Amino acid sequence: VTRPTTQVYAGVDIGGTTTQVVLCAPDLAVLARAEVPTPAAEGGQAMIDAALGALAGLLARRPARLLAVGVGAAGIVDTDAGRVLVASDSFHGWAGFEVTATIRGALGVPAYLDNDVNAFLRGEAAKGAVAGVPHVLGMTLGTGVGGALWLDGALYEGPHGAAGEIGHVPGFGDLSCTCGGRGHLETLASGRAIGRRYGERTGRAGLTAGAVAAAADAGDPDAAVVYEEAGAALARAILITAGLVDVTAYVVGGGVSRAWHLLEPAVRTALAAEPPVSGRPVSVVRARLGSDAVAVGAASRARDEIAPGTRVYEVGEPSLEP
Ligand SMILES: [Zn+2]
Repeated sequence: VTRPTTQVYAGVDIGGTTTQVVLCAPDLAVLARAEVPTPAAEGGQAMIDAALGALAGLLARRPARLLAVGVGAAGIVDTDAGRVLVASDSFHGWAGFEVTATIRGALGVPAYLDNDVNAFLRGEAAKGAVAGVPHVLGMTLGTGVGGALWLDGALYEGPHGAAGEIGHVPGFGDLSCTCGGRGHLETLASGRAIGRRYGERTGRAGLTAGAVAAAADAGDPDAAVVYEEAGAALARAILITAGLVDVTAYVVGGGVSRAWHLLEPAVRTALAAEPPVSGRPVSVVRARLGSDAVAVGAASRARDEIAPGTRVYEVGEPSLEP
């Protein structure tokens, strides 16, 4: 029997409807990927079992020595304990679930857990649109708006894990936000907000952000205005961040960013009208890893934890699994 000598890291992206699993080489090149439905109503064990089943299938097709597993999950997570703290209502038995301990127990390799937006930014900073850039704000425009901050070549989570959450900072109008606040970026730039705002302007309710983008592309001025306002709000978020922490690189992902051609002109116009106080040019790019970003970012966390010498930037002491 020959043991496989290829070393791989697994990355898992547990979303509300689908779970993506990738096998990555140590340089984070994706060697294989699988997608399975997330059994969100069946509890944490079923969700991890689905991910591990997909991972086993990948390893059967492509034998390799698995070094560690990284997981990105929506919601508020305890990255040290490897546990989900708060999950949305669509997940049953997920808050409180011991994600990393369960995976370690099943596979016998180290496992790590990140919030999905943080994992997204890890992926784009390790292998995507902002690879090697030391200071970046990442924003995901999906059902909601997520944010994450990368400083000095590492994720900066803040004392409560909420650093970079630009989606829920006030000052973006006066609309009610899903979080209970008002005037947050999410009320203008999330997929849900774009559909709702288009409905309010036109009476055509219930369209997805993608359908509104298609309407804008077909010449619908109301659809174009909704995207322009989302783009202007993004620029405002960028200017706030640039003024506060002097970050000049921004990466935008999530489903709404597929309409980048509709968002980008408004972002550029607003930034040209109000350049940041640093006087430095601002770089705003669309995410590059697409639906792989969270899983690749989770794999990059696993790699950096157990093989810290391979990361692009060394910051402080490397941390190792005890
Ligand atoms: Zn909010």
